[in-house]
Amino acid sequence: MQELTVLNNLKGELNSTGCGFCLAKWTQVTIHLQMGETHSCHHPKTHKVPLAELTRNPSALHNTRYKKQLRREMLEGKRPEECEYCWNVEDSSDLFSDRIYKSNELGQNHT
Ligand code: SF4
Repeated sequence: MQELTVLNNLKGELNSTGCGFCLAKWTQVTIHLQMGETHSCHHPKTHKVPLAELTRNPSALHNTRYKKQLRREMLEGKRPEECEYCWNVEDSSDLFSDRIYKSNELGQNHT
């Protein structure tokens, strides 16, 4: 019950920034070095890390221009297309999507 309240409050806070705002786009990353690709959470497909971006700044392993554009969309109240897994859950039920669960992982104790 307490967990439900926490998730409901978090959902409200996320939505106050934008209906597609998800912290995982900032806080989570999987880097596929063997393919030169990256993504944040596991739902969207991976995308290439451009070598030019990497040469200029190694943080491009996570912060590609592509990903930054999607973050901007989230901050502007849009729902990036590549996150359709979550939009499908949110549009077809009252269940919490991974947008809420993964954003909540920031507040979890990872030991
Ligand atoms: S909105 Fe959903 S698919 Fe997109 S980054 Fe967040 S958890 Fe992943």
